[in-house]
Amino acid sequence: MAYKISDECISCGACEAECPVSAITAGDDKYVIDADACVECGACAGVCPVGAPNAE
Ligand code: SF4
Ligand code: SF4
Repeated sequence: MAYKISDECISCGACEAECPVSAITAGDDKYVIDADACVECGACAGVCPVGAPNAE
């Protein structure tokens, strides 16, 4: 399953630069992951200061 960013996201943008497939973009209230592009590498979860990205 693709990773998903929870409402804990503070829109710091750190994960966007880490994603190897550019699946993360800034949304209206938080950053969002394109589930079809995510390859489940976990890099976003590794850099997030608040633990917002999680595998579903
Ligand atoms: Fe990108 Fe990897 Fe996070 Fe998926 S798990 S959104 S591929 S950094
Ligand atoms: Fe949101 Fe975490 Fe990504 Fe920062 S690193 S934009 S807090 S999901």
